Amino acid sequence: MNADANSQANPDSGADPPQTEEKWGYDLYPERRGQKYQPSLAKIALLGEGRENIDKIKCERNVWNCAQKSPIVKLMLAALKSSGCEVDLSRHVACEVCDVSVSGGYDPELNQVVVCQNVARSEGMTQGVLTHEFIHMFDYCRNKLDFKNIEHLACTEIRAANLSHCSFLSAVGQGDASPFKIAKAHQDCVKTKAALSVMAVRKVSEPEARAVVDKVFDKCYNDLEPIGRRIRRNSLDMHKAYMERFAYGYD
Ligand SMILES: [Zn+2]
Repeated sequence: MNADANSQANPDSGADPPQTEEKWGYDLYPERRGQKYQPSLAKIALLGEGRENIDKIKCERNVWNCAQKSPIVKLMLAALKSSGCEVDLSRHVACEVCDVSVSGGYDPELNQVVVCQNVARSEGMTQGVLTHEFIHMFDYCRNKLDFKNIEHLACTEIRAANLSHCSFLSAVGQGDASPFKIAKAHQDCVKTKAALSVMAVRKVSEPEARAVVDKVFDKCYNDLEPIGRRIRRNSLDMHKAYMERFAYGYD
């Protein structure tokens, strides 16, 4: 399972209990493998019964809208199709209740993207989750990644953070936007985000996760397929990437 840390949750909160067996991240997604999320009595009293169903409908609508309107999501769908891994939204994308520490995930055994309906509530956040998780799907499709190999895991997390999450504005917002500083800030953002995602799945320490990320960083950071460029927020990059998809052989 590729679990993706919810950037609004503090991943460092609380000490991890000693890990006796590998869980591969599935414990973060209680609805995977047939278990239905059961709201506790306290939650029913607080939110009203049926909140999960309303969330699911909203989430599925957000997914549908992104697939129709978002250039970056449409580009990923086209790239997957051209790579022989065409996405059927109803089969390959699932809205589920997740642990609040994650916003989305990719389940390689079922070849399914999970959108966490209780965390990724807006269309913008859904777009981010879909782009990120479709990069994992693309990597499993194209490269036959072994997600139990921690270097493979780190590589696909670097690519996903690089191509979707870490933006130009993160450096500008900090007041110093020289090109060198931006490049450094972007790399630091990718390294941190990728290390957090590795830690979410494998329960390794932060130094261990960072060491693996550093080891494969250069190779994976410079692999920009299938988007072809790093996307800057609030720029025309998404549209450019979508318009140029033919140059990469995606239809
Ligand atoms: Zn990821």
